[in-house]
Amino acid sequence: MTNQAAAADTITFLGTAGARFMVSRQLAASGGIWLSLAGTQILLDPGPGSLVQSAKRKLNAEKLSAIILSHRHLDHSADTNVMIEAMTNGGFHQHGALYAPADALDTEPVIFSYLRNFVAEIVTLKAETTYSVDEVSFTTSVRHDHPVETYGLVFEAAGHRFAYIADRYFPELAASYRGAELIIINTVLTEPRPPIAHLSLPDAERLITEIKPRTAILSHFGMHVWQARPWVVAEEMSRRTGSRVIAARDGMKFDLAGLESSPAAAKVEKNG
Ligand SMILES: [Zn+2]
Repeated sequence: MTNQAAAADTITFLGTAGARFMVSRQLAASGGIWLSLAGTQILLDPGPGSLVQSAKRKLNAEKLSAIILSHRHLDHSADTNVMIEAMTNGGFHQHGALYAPADALDTEPVIFSYLRNFVAEIVTLKAETTYSVDEVSFTTSVRHDHPVETYGLVFEAAGHRFAYIADRYFPELAASYRGAELIIINTVLTEPRPPIAHLSLPDAERLITEIKPRTAILSHFGMHVWQARPWVVAEEMSRRTGSRVIAARDGMKFDLAGLESSPAAAKVEKNG
């Protein structure tokens, strides 16, 4: 039986800035995504500002069970060390796991050696593999086409299936994310700009058309997407695709229960 008082299953966007210019100038906040699913807390891609933004939103890092990196680039990993310290109360409460691709852990690690014993486990992510953290399971996608080893993720928890899609479109990508009710897409570019290996707005639209989720959330905006006003872009994309497309806002807390009903599930918390 589910506990009536059980906390909601939510996805909080600590920030919405993506790639170097938006992140460097902090035109929007950055810091990744905080998942609270069936009572399990997971931090995804702790980019610059993760510590500050999570503390500001009263998200307690000591409650985290895992930190997951899709890849080693700074906008996804800069606060990994400080968040490990926060998760483990400075190493006095050893627990939790760090999941990251091999190249984020080996040659030039994103985690300092003295912090490695603070966590209970360091797990090397491999393509198309399923992992579990307490009440949550997640499966990595095929390896993305990006300069460093990168995986998107499909989460299953609390009766929901949702996906986080990291970078650059290629035709086989959608297959990894089929069946997701919700997809979160990192949309850095307004148009594909090879050789820049990021997802663009037309790529996002193509993924939505192929995967057909109930809801898609655009986030991790590059400068030009930001200038095009993501909320306007999202509304137009909703009309064209028939899926509900939302532009994330800094601090937005998305309640997964909203996937079952039609009115907007996104509750935007005060930006402060
Ligand atoms: Zn990257």
